[in-house]
This record gives sequence, structure tokens and C-alpha cells, in this order.
Amino acid sequence: MITLDGLAIKALGERASSLIEGLNAFSSQEDGLTRLYLSKEHKEACAYVCAAMETVGLTASIDALGTVHGLLKASEGNPSKRVLIGSHIDTVRNGGSYDGNLGVVVGILALEEIRKRGIKLPFDVEVLAFGDEEGVRFPTTLLSASAIAGVLDPSEFDLSDADGISVRDALKALGGDADSASALAYSRDETLAYLEVHIEQGPVLESKDLPLGVVTAIAGARRFSFTYKGVAGHAGTVPMGLRKDAAVSAAQLICEIDKVAKAEEQFSLVATVGDVRIKPGAVNVIADEAMLSLDVRCEDDECRQQAEAAIVAAANRIASENNTPVEIIDYTAIDTVHCSKRLQTLAGEVLQDMGLPDFRLMSGAGHDGQVMAQLCDLGMLFVRCKGGISHNPLEHCSTEDMGYAVEALVRWLEKLGSHHSSES
Ligand SMILES: [Zn+2]
Repeated sequence: MITLDGLAIKALGERASSLIEGLNAFSSQEDGLTRLYLSKEHKEACAYVCAAMETVGLTASIDALGTVHGLLKASEGNPSKRVLIGSHIDTVRNGGSYDGNLGVVVGILALEEIRKRGIKLPFDVEVLAFGDEEGVRFPTTLLSASAIAGVLDPSEFDLSDADGISVRDALKALGGDADSASALAYSRDETLAYLEVHIEQGPVLESKDLPLGVVTAIAGARRFSFTYKGVAGHAGTVPMGLRKDAAVSAAQLICEIDKVAKAEEQFSLVATVGDVRIKPGAVNVIADEAMLSLDVRCEDDECRQQAEAAIVAAANRIASENNTPVEIIDYTAIDTVHCSKRLQTLAGEVLQDMGLPDFRLMSGAGHDGQVMAQLCDLGMLFVRCKGGISHNPLEHCSTEDMGYAVEALVRWLEKLGSHHSSES
């Protein structure tokens, strides 16, 4: 039995750190990380991940959509069952080293530890390094995970990047094959669980002074735009009581949105106005149009829908009070994906065994797990990231925290293995 001493954790973290550093070499920019799906850098990173998998004793291969697979065969029991571990190795433009990459690296190292420690598992375990999570190059996202989950829409292969290159052609150029994607789907009966370790990309764990947290759900989201119509007028001559000022209506709605989101205490509801446009946009003209965007996310769909309804009601009330009609457009509704309760419990036990609290939090960002949950039970662990900063070259995860992540994944698999053995 490996005891949880600082040295063991540090050594695991250093292994993770060196693999992360190795992956940093595959970037289309020098002082930052840009690795888009099916780029030259992505292909090179796939080869690097393949080699790293083989070094630790996994059977590695790259599939028709550029997902790298590293298989560790079951050491006992029914080998027809499998557990998947995954994340992505594509990045945003000028991104960080840990988003996605950390989950792949932690997966590889956890399986190395499973082998080294002679831990017997009653299922195959496969690490997956997906290529299309960020959706930056093509107007698609989660393509590679969708193929494995069996929920791929083949029409997405005809979508093109800014240079007019379709996913289909980009795949062909890199030795992939869109036409054989349907064969990549795994069977539901054979797939027990999908586990993903990811940096939090937010400040919660850091604020609690914790290296790891158990994810409860990937938040559902909805987006809106509100456009108020006013009447343009001279800033000096129209008295306040006779104005129809679209900018004032937008400002009042922003305050109302903030109030609605802050009033919700049970679930983690977040609402963001990230874009405001005022027309005509002149210092001495009353605004005749004001548009604001809204992004609402919550781990509870009903709670989110209630908040949306309250915001829409407020938008209409403000419109009539100020005599500025509002046009409301809503789009992109995604329901919450819940992590498996059983996997959350097991992960919580693992954290407690490691002397850490069983801390739970939702994911406000999307992940490969969102799609993989359509195939099997989803479990996710978050790792603290410095300052909550992500999608930025400043993204950072400490060596020690990465060590904790590897150790937790080893123990999570071990626990899942003994539960599975006792159930079957
Ligand atoms: Zn990610």
C-alpha cells in the first residue's frame, strides 16, 4: 500500500509536469499555446501522447477522427466491460497548458501507477485524448467525443474553417477518415463509466484552499439578446421626463439581472451580460437603441428557467415603464448534465481517504463529459487552477495539485473496481 506522503505526491506531480511541458512543444505560436483540431501541431501532439501511452505500458492507437486511445486490459474478471478516462488536447488560441491536456496526462499516469502498484481491476481502462473540444477551428465542438458516444451528426463533417477547408478534407489530409467515424461508437452495455479530470477554470477551489473538488453537474445554459427601442434626441434640449431612452432601460435590466442571480442561494446560478451596444453611440444624443446579451447557467434546469422567466418579466416591465419596447431573442438552450451520484460518492470517499474534504462544485464550463454522459455514467474531478484563470497563457496548476489529481484518479479507479467486483 502506497501511503500518502508528500514525496509520493510530489513525484507524481513532477511526472505530470514533465508530460505537460512535453505537450507545450506542439503549438502554432511560440510564446503561448495554440493547437487547433487537425492542425500539424495536433497531429504531432497525438504522436507524443501515443508514445507516452506506450512508455507506460498501454496499447496506443489513433482513430479515424484523431482521438488517441491508450488501453490497459483488465487484470481480472469480465474483460468485456470498460471504463473510459478522457479529456482533450486541442486548445483555444493563445490558451494555457493545462485545459484538457492535464486530464489526458493524469489519465496516462494513473494507469501507469495502477500497473506499477499491481492493482487489479475487473474492467479494461482506456485513456482517450480527444481532439475537438474547444470548437475553435471549425464551427463544431465535441466531434471526437460524440463519435465515441455514438451521437455524432455526420453533416458536421461538411462544415469548413475560415480557409474553406472542411472537417472531412482536414481529416483526410491527416490520415483520418470521416466515413469510418460511425464505427467508433462504443456500446452502452460494455461501457461502465467515463471519468474526466479537468482544471476548474474558475476560482472556487482556490478560494476554499483545496486542491481537488468533485463535480456535481455540467451546468445547463441559455443565451438571450434584449434590444430596447427608444427615440434619439438632443442631449441638451429633451427634458428627462419626456425622453424614451433605450440606454437607461438596458442599464436598469443589467441591474435587475444581477439581482435575480444573486438572490438564488440553493443552486449555483450565474448570469452574465457580456456585450452591450448603444446606438447611435454619440456623447450628445439620447440612445434610440440598446442591445444587451445574456448568458445564464445553473446546475438545476428548473431554477435556471425560473430565473430566465423573472428576467424576461423584468425586461418587459422596464420596457413599458420607460416607453421603450423590447425585442427578446433566446437561443442556445442546453440542459444540465448531471454527474453520476455513485461516482460522486466514490470520488468523495477518495478525497476523504486522502485527508481532503469531500467538496462538491458544479462546472460552469462545457466539457467532453457532456457528450460522454450520453454513453455512460459521468464522473468528474476538478483541480485547482491559479487565480481561476483559464483560456490564457497564465493558466497554472501546481505540481503538488497535479500529484493529488493522479493519486485521486488511481484510488477512484480502484474503488470503482472493488464496487464493480462486489456487484457482479
Ligand atoms: Zn477543457
